[in-house]
Amino acid sequence: MTKKTSKSQTQRIETVAAQGGGQTHPPFAEVVEPIHLSTTYERAPDNSYPGGAVYARDGNPSFRGPEQMLCAMESGGAALLFSSGMSAAVAVFQALKPGDRIVAPRQMYWSLRNWLVDFCDHWGLTLDLFDAIGDGPADCCGTGNLAELLRRPTSLLWLETPANPTWDITDIRHAAALGHDAGAIVCVDSTVATPVFSQPIVLGADITMHSATKYLNGHSDVLAGMLVVAEPLQDSAFWQRVAMNRAAGGAVPGPVEAWLLARGMRTLFVRVRTAAANAMHLARHFDGHPAVASVLYPGLATHPGHQIASSQMFGGYGAMLSLRVRGGADAAIACAARLRIFKRATSLGSTESLVEHRASVEGPGTQCPDDLLRLSVGIEHADDLVADLEQALSHELHGG
Ligand SMILES: *Cc1c(COP(=O)(O)O)cnc(C)c1O
Repeated sequence: MTKKTSKSQTQRIETVAAQGGGQTHPPFAEVVEPIHLSTTYERAPDNSYPGGAVYARDGNPSFRGPEQMLCAMESGGAALLFSSGMSAAVAVFQALKPGDRIVAPRQMYWSLRNWLVDFCDHWGLTLDLFDAIGDGPADCCGTGNLAELLRRPTSLLWLETPANPTWDITDIRHAAALGHDAGAIVCVDSTVATPVFSQPIVLGADITMHSATKYLNGHSDVLAGMLVVAEPLQDSAFWQRVAMNRAAGGAVPGPVEAWLLARGMRTLFVRVRTAAANAMHLARHFDGHPAVASVLYPGLATHPGHQIASSQMFGGYGAMLSLRVRGGADAAIACAARLRIFKRATSLGSTESLVEHRASVEGPGTQCPDDLLRLSVGIEHADDLVADLEQALSHELHGG
């Protein structure tokens, strides 16, 4: 169900989030929306559907809370909740026609890129990958060879910033302008930035995508995805097709998951700001550490994307960072094995800190450096996280 937001001029998005959207719910004026379990809804005698809901595969009243909240947070026109981040992205790509052309970054969420390469081949789409990090001083924008690729007509430009797992930054304003000149719809995977720090639609994107499994839900217990569309496109044929893909394929979460997500979103701002402050603390602490070859974090002035990140992320640089451990893959894996607070698990964006030897997850063909540990920094006490990493890294120094 595509719903317009009731955008308030006066309330800040922190307020919208904390209030779970702000409405109370009839008939009991509950301050928390109840879970709507029904899969079907009765018609009125005049044959209409009084509440607008018809059947659960098209949508569920429990989706409205998360959809309206994210719409307000991202300054969008409409939002759609999906069963996963991947199903949200897939709905966008499946709205294209055979013969259409996609331009996407080489460095992006691994599972999505792998699926996309295969899908384009199968669906008769042209896919060109750009390198966000160019090799000359002319690359001011983290767009590399993007301008060159966008000289030809393009249907869809996909961006991800900060991008897994080196947190490359792409200038959304610049890339979106190039994409629009080529006739493309511009979609940004903003899972890592979160609406707390960045609003791609405000920067010129047409669609913002989130794996809501990550920061939006924030507790490692719900799989979900979201798309938000800019107001001018909310009635477009493209967006209608995205919505149809969701309804026809039933790419929707259950009502209980939607309700849990709405609850998680209420604390988005405090969680993400605390986690990002912890990440900045860790990045500064381990930058220059004798057991660490480099710290990859856009909040550090030495990160190649720092300037652009500062111009499009407001109030923080996110809570994802990577450490390249001296001694290569074996040293990195051994370091992860000694961590006690960081859990060795994939995924990101929860209250608990996670660590991952990313090349092991991505497997053969990965471009991820094999000495890289990806950290999803949680909201624990920063000193405990520092101490945990210090003890794990100290063995590298003493050859233990
Ligand atoms: C996790 C993730 C996805 C995929 O989302 P799922 O909810 O796992 O389907 C896409 N993009 C990014 C950046 C992610 O971190």
